Amino acid sequence: MRSHLLNDQTTDRYRHAVTEGVERVAARLAATERPFTGVTPADLAPRMASIDLDRPLYDTSAALDELEDVYLRDAVYFHHPRYLAHLNCPVVIPAVLGEAVLSAVNSSVDTWDQSAGGTLIERRMIDWTTERVGLGPAADGVFTSGGTQSNLQALLLAREEAKAGGTGDDTGAVGTPDLGRLRILASEVSHFSVRKAAKLLGLASDAVIAVPCDRDKRMQPTALARELERCVADGLVPMAVVATAGTTDFGSIDPLPEIAELCDRYDTWLHVDAAYGCGLLVSACRRHLLAGIGRADSVTVDYHKSFFQPVSSSAVLVRDGATLRHATYHADYLNPRQAAQDRVPNQVDKSLQTTRRFDALKLWLTLRVMGADAVGALFDEVCALATEGWRMLLADPRFDVVVEPTLSTLVFRYVPITPVAPASIDRANKAARTALFASGAAVVAGTSVNGRHYLKFTLLNPETTTDDIAAVLDLIAGHAEQYLGGTLDRAS
Ligand SMILES: *Cc1c(COP(=O)(O)O)cnc(C)c1O
Repeated sequence: MRSHLLNDQTTDRYRHAVTEGVERVAARLAATERPFTGVTPADLAPRMASIDLDRPLYDTSAALDELEDVYLRDAVYFHHPRYLAHLNCPVVIPAVLGEAVLSAVNSSVDTWDQSAGGTLIERRMIDWTTERVGLGPAADGVFTSGGTQSNLQALLLAREEAKAGGTGDDTGAVGTPDLGRLRILASEVSHFSVRKAAKLLGLASDAVIAVPCDRDKRMQPTALARELERCVADGLVPMAVVATAGTTDFGSIDPLPEIAELCDRYDTWLHVDAAYGCGLLVSACRRHLLAGIGRADSVTVDYHKSFFQPVSSSAVLVRDGATLRHATYHADYLNPRQAAQDRVPNQVDKSLQTTRRFDALKLWLTLRVMGADAVGALFDEVCALATEGWRMLLADPRFDVVVEPTLSTLVFRYVPITPVAPASIDRANKAARTALFASGAAVVAGTSVNGRHYLKFTLLNPETTTDDIAAVLDLIAGHAEQYLGGTLDRAS
């Protein structure tokens, strides 16, 4: 069935198939009245199970009809202004175009001989980003599948540098600290991928030290200083400090200059996890919130969060490009040592992956078609919206809101006017979220603060309005009241 292979003979089929797919998605986007239909796994599973994969449909339209039934109709749509849950963004059209081009050409940016210009585009996108961050002339980096991998790679480099750095062991001799003594310091609200990375890197189960935050969920430098001092006193090696620029729950930004100062003093690698806050790099009026990020040894950016790019698109950036050698392994068939000596630009020498998507193309087309300022303006809009939403929550006696947003998240919960037990408030908020999801009218997230259940809006859609926020808050309060009313009825 060679007619299915994309080549010079099949361009008509390619055009028709892709156009048909585009039409289906366009029709779906136009018809979506709610971010979600409320479909349950029990609804969908039988439909899925009834499909016999050994009986192909032999027809694109029929396959798309079927896909409509098992996926498109009931998908969760991030473009909808009442999708307010996780760090998912609506996507910009130049990036979607990039996705279509990169998958059709199917370059793999592991070696020059599989990508040619693709490698140079990726390198330009890395250089453009490191310049925005201010990492200096020796900076480098590589695209990754997401913030989780970017954090893992950054911490791998930090671990190798700590081992190679001749850090004194507790006998005072210069040597390789054993993995069991390496510590990573990150705030108590840092991303869980830091702990995952520590595990994968073979560190001790208590290797990640949770540094306390202030009221605004920012790491306390005094607490960090105390923990660093304690490490040294205990003969432990502070291998890295992870500062978060935009925590996943609160959008809070750790005090980067003070943290950088402490990292200098203790000669510790500074990793800034800006998976969420990286959108500030292109903001016209909020860039100053990232002041100090240029002092990092490594930085994580997730373009698929605050640059409005489709999943996946992320990068790990480093101040000293030479440290990427810790990810370099040579294979005769792919990237022999000689190629490195001949300065063949093989990105695999810098990556944890081998075959790798040409995700940089999406950012490239975004910058070439829209420009960086337009991306920053979109992110500024959602940050401003969050401030509006915070004011609304403060003024509304039905809700308790946690911190004034720095970026675009709001963490809050419904509190009934007539006092009830704390556990009932927890349950009412959980029930409201579940009922809202089941109705599909809006999608919101949940999290916990000081052991209590809270709800969360992550605002990444500039199409969302204050009216949307007001309407969703009414829905939440309605569901919570209904839940509390119901439990009181049952109790009486
Ligand atoms: C989302 C996020 C990550 C993980 O990124 P993925 O792209 O989901 O792997 C890491 N750190 C922070 C602060 C995040 O918000």
